[in-house]
Amino acid sequence: MTELKELYPVGEQPPLGYVPPKMYAWLVRPERFGEPMKAWQEEVIDIPEPADDEVLVYVMAAGVNYNNVWAGLGIPIDVIGIRNRAGEPERFHIGGSDASGIVYKVGKDVTTHKVGDEVVIHCGIWSRDDPWVKSGEDPMYAPTFRIWGYETNWGSFAQFTKVQAHQCLPRPQHLTWEQGAAYMLVGATAYRMLYGWAEHALRKDDVVLIWGGAGGLGSMAIQIVKAAGGKAIAVVSEDDKFEYCMNLGAVGCINRKNFNHWGMLPHWKDTVGYNEWLKGARSFGKAIWDILGERRSPRVVFEHPGETTIPTSIFVCDTGGTVVICAGTTGYNATVDLRYLWMRQKRLQGSHFANDEQSKGFNDLVLAGLADPCMSRAFTWDELPYSHQLMYENKHPFGNMAILIGAPDFGLGKNIAEPAGAVQIEVVGEPKEREGFYRAPLHPVDEVKAKEPAVEDTRLVRELMHYGVISCSTTTPVDEVAQRMTEYHVHAIVVTDAAGYTAGVVSQTDVVLARQGRTADDLATLMAADIMSPHVVTCSPETTISEAITLMTRNRIHRLVVVDTRSGKPWPVGVLSMTDIITYGMRTAPLGASSMSLPPSALATDIYEPMAPEPSLADLGIIEDSTLVADVMHQGVVTSPRSASVLDAAKQMLEYGIHAVVVVGDDGHAVGVVSQTDVVLARQGRTVEQAAALSVGDIMTPSLVSCTADRKLSEAITLMTRNRVHRLVVVEDKAGKLMPVGILSMTDVIRQFFSRN
Ligand code: NAP
Repeated sequence: MTELKELYPVGEQPPLGYVPPKMYAWLVRPERFGEPMKAWQEEVIDIPEPADDEVLVYVMAAGVNYNNVWAGLGIPIDVIGIRNRAGEPERFHIGGSDASGIVYKVGKDVTTHKVGDEVVIHCGIWSRDDPWVKSGEDPMYAPTFRIWGYETNWGSFAQFTKVQAHQCLPRPQHLTWEQGAAYMLVGATAYRMLYGWAEHALRKDDVVLIWGGAGGLGSMAIQIVKAAGGKAIAVVSEDDKFEYCMNLGAVGCINRKNFNHWGMLPHWKDTVGYNEWLKGARSFGKAIWDILGERRSPRVVFEHPGETTIPTSIFVCDTGGTVVICAGTTGYNATVDLRYLWMRQKRLQGSHFANDEQSKGFNDLVLAGLADPCMSRAFTWDELPYSHQLMYENKHPFGNMAILIGAPDFGLGKNIAEPAGAVQIEVVGEPKEREGFYRAPLHPVDEVKAKEPAVEDTRLVRELMHYGVISCSTTTPVDEVAQRMTEYHVHAIVVTDAAGYTAGVVSQTDVVLARQGRTADDLATLMAADIMSPHVVTCSPETTISEAITLMTRNRIHRLVVVDTRSGKPWPVGVLSMTDIITYGMRTAPLGASSMSLPPSALATDIYEPMAPEPSLADLGIIEDSTLVADVMHQGVVTSPRSASVLDAAKQMLEYGIHAVVVVGDDGHAVGVVSQTDVVLARQGRTVEQAAALSVGDIMTPSLVSCTADRKLSEAITLMTRNRVHRLVVVEDKAGKLMPVGILSMTDVIRQFFSRN
């Protein structure tokens, strides 16, 4: 008889059904949070007991996903700390949210699986006692829903994993162990996105636009669309990915690098910038029509890049269609031109992983040979941290990656040559009748606890504000408003009605956009009321400073109009600016011790056409501006090294009367920017000592909104309005490093525009 061991070497399989007391596992511990090569270390630990509804699976191979790069880094959440606070004692995390393996032990209530079953595992976990789950509703909305191997412990990066029985699905026998471990997380996610939203569930002949067609999700989506008889159009960043996507079943591909309108929408008042964006979005839409050979727009847009692509996705989506999104890889601020959303009755639908039926739906496609796992590379057990390091450094190959865990070599486990057979594809996610409807409580949001105790702020606006406002009336001509702004060095002017109450506010941006593209004669007819924003962000003298700061950051502004509303109407009494708050912070030493019309064609029946002739700016009545940034900018930039203290940056701002400082690296190239808001937020809620310990590098924003001096001024204005900033860092590109040479501010632009009258 074989001698049973307490611990088996990796790659040596224990006798079927024998669960040794100990196992090898790759663990993250809080004391080594960081890059994957540091965070993930091999240790020997006790094997856990499965609960009554769980099974213990001997893992043959595991999949690699980005979530375990995050778990190792300990950001944006500390998964171990959260579980400890919820009562789980283990001070470690075993990641791994994809696996193939063999069932070794079953809990006493498990009737669906037995020892010896070969399975693949989906990563959706929920409590069977959750009232929402018991009510028969989609468990993906249940408050107990978690992603196994990320939000839960005992993932697949160990010899044994503990999972709920419903997570286990039959392993496709025509695939190797590592192929079996590569597809479920992305495949089931894509399946729910395409089939889970009843009104927009995939239909034969549907056109589906798929971002990142050669990526993990995209490669699965193309195959699902093909299997349903739809037309997948893949977007990629290189022509050499076309063939890969076409082989998976795409009907055509678009290289996104051929377009340059990506990013947040220009402000809708920025007619020049908006039209430029529109041109890009329309030509992208036309590329879709060119592939199809007919004027059809995608009924479904498969989204995950997020911030940079959402405006285009919503624009090109068909009337009554949907943009379904499961991630925001490029950023979370989605800007939407609501006119397209409501007039064309489109939907923006969030989606997250998948339930049992949807996971089964995708697995059935794989079992039938209709979807390939698209495994690009498999790694050995020892290479587990390295595989994640590649992903962390964005050097991983396209498609999906897997790691050998129990399987002793690559290429094992393929027991049949051909897929098992055909499959009936049925639409899942049709609305069900609800009986005894139970409304789930809100998902418990696991707070990311501040590392330092928050300090309560009891200061009031009246203690720091400036009394008196620079104002104009609704009928003041715009050029006079501009003169007043430059004369008083203010960034906004309060507009008052005939009785003196607050009616609106005109910002520097409003003035610049009113002038841009107009002749001086056109401008002469415009008054403050035509360009003002009637929504004025105000506070009262009794508002606390911390509430006032939040009001500013929520509205992306740097000053509030302080109003007295005792008469029932807002009487402007003063202004509170970020500068005032910083000045106060220094004094008490806490730190250191319009009438704009819709853009042409915006709502025309034919969105993309006529492409020719493209209306010129002159046709649109817009004057083209040949001024360059170099003609207007200020030479020289106030900079700070990363290691400087926040106090030093605050002093620089007050000394030079500026709103931001450019942060530079050792050789003087720009690495980020610290704004007044960053400084104020660094101080807020912290003690004097805590704030004093912070460096500029800790609080800076690493992305820099910059341009070169040879850019057109109108392009620079659009860059500012799209990024909601009032100044750009002017840079010189020296061998790929951006050296700051000057600043272009809205004030400079106003001086330029209005001095030419
Ligand atoms: P991936 O394999 O890295 O693929 C992502 C693709 O996005 C890349 O291939 C890239 O293709 C494309 N892309 C990158 N930057 C882009 C940009 N600026 N504009 C347009 N496309 C861009 O990743 P994945 O496995 O498909 O996952 C994608 C995202 O979904 C990740 O953030 C992941 O965490 C998330 N996700 C969420 C769920 C969920 O349940 N919520 C499940 C799975 C994945 P090109 O460069 O060729 O265009």
